[in-house]
Amino acid sequence: MLDTYSPAWMTEDLEIFKDAVNKFYTREFAPHSDRWTKQGHVDRDAWNKAGEAGLLCASIPEEYGGGGGDYRHEAILVEEMERTGVVGFGNTVHSLICAHYINAYGTEEQKQHILPKMASGDMVCAIAMTEPGTGSDLQAVKTTAIKQGNQYVVNGSKTFISNGQQADLVIVVAKTDPSQGAKGMSLMLVETQDTEGFSRGRNLDKMGQHAADTSELFFDDVKIPATSVLGGEEGQGFYQLMQQLPAERLIIAAQGLGAMERAIDLTVDYTRQRKTFGNAIFDYQNTQFKLAECKTTWMAARALVDQLTVQLLEGKLDANSAAAAKFWVTERQCEVIDDCLQLFGGYGYMDEYPISRMYTDARVQRIYGGSNEIMRMLVARSL
Ligand SMILES: Cc1cc2nc3c(=O)[nH]c(=O)nc-3n(C[C@H](O)[C@H](O)[C@H](O)COP(=O)(O)OP(=O)(O)OC[C@H]3O[C@@H](n4cnc5c(N)ncnc54)[C@H](O)[C@@H]3O)c2cc1C
Repeated sequence: MLDTYSPAWMTEDLEIFKDAVNKFYTREFAPHSDRWTKQGHVDRDAWNKAGEAGLLCASIPEEYGGGGGDYRHEAILVEEMERTGVVGFGNTVHSLICAHYINAYGTEEQKQHILPKMASGDMVCAIAMTEPGTGSDLQAVKTTAIKQGNQYVVNGSKTFISNGQQADLVIVVAKTDPSQGAKGMSLMLVETQDTEGFSRGRNLDKMGQHAADTSELFFDDVKIPATSVLGGEEGQGFYQLMQQLPAERLIIAAQGLGAMERAIDLTVDYTRQRKTFGNAIFDYQNTQFKLAECKTTWMAARALVDQLTVQLLEGKLDANSAAAAKFWVTERQCEVIDDCLQLFGGYGYMDEYPISRMYTDARVQRIYGGSNEIMRMLVARSL
């Protein structure tokens, strides 16, 4: 089994954290995976349970209710989620992405108001960049937040927003100055409860990741206080987004690692049990060669991600290295899961076998967080 491998950045304390996370996910969340898949979202109280167990905002300072950890805690959380087969729990968006925008750029008042509620699970957060008309080309967003007196008026629509159905707070990428490109962009904090003009579209039907709610969001003359610009200053949005992207992309690669590992472990188990022509499928050389290739791919991915994790912790991770890891690991993830699925034969195509769902869940890893083509463009720019 692959989970005996320990990354270079692992410490004794982190091993204890990892063990606790694994037990929590196995006991509290994994048994609900099928139900969450059918209902199209996790239970709302899952967020509060995770908050009580210290799984939310693990890398946010304790003074704001967080766990006081760092990126390694988030990497452990996402890898364990994959390993234990937990589906749909959008904690990466909530804790690694949204909470870090607030922590890094928020005014003291914004941090005090929002972060403790996010850490407890009382406030679920989403980030809304993508619009029906634009995804990769973020500067082309059409949503506006125009200042009128002591408030902003937000208009526009967003799509494909993770945690969209459950979000109590949405960080909305909007133009506060539509005459400008990147310089006119700001991140607006929009609380959703009882907010006139805000509405959620349907929970979108997807190829995979059925338990993760992914939604359209509409803003129709939504009035929010003048204090709702993240950091208090207009025009900083694009810069803020770019600063956080390396960690966001590295965590997608870490998720890919966890998924590959689970796929290989499941396949070793299955092929050892299943017999054809009087032999375990594992005993055929083709199976062993395929699984050896899968394991070696995983080892290479592990080495890359671990090296970049150390760079990130030292504050040295650059955008193009993170982009390289994102596209390379997610593509290897899809290949490894495909090879593993093949070894399940027809059962690999049946949804009651986790490998089938892992196959469809994996596909979007090459699309969100910046598509893999955009990642290649970033890497090419560094040459
Ligand atoms: C399940 C899911 C969850 C998501 N969660 C979120 C979320 O929480 N928040 C959020 O804001 N967004 C989210 N997204 C949106 C996601 O980030 C976008 O789908 C992605 O950035 C691509 O944008 P697009 O779909 O508009 O594709 P487009 O930008 O229209 O691109 C279409 C294709 O053209 C390629 N392409 C585009 N430009 C170029 C170029 N210059 N050169 C070469 N090829 C190019 C792309 O790589 C892609 O293959 C999510 C999407 C999915 C499917």
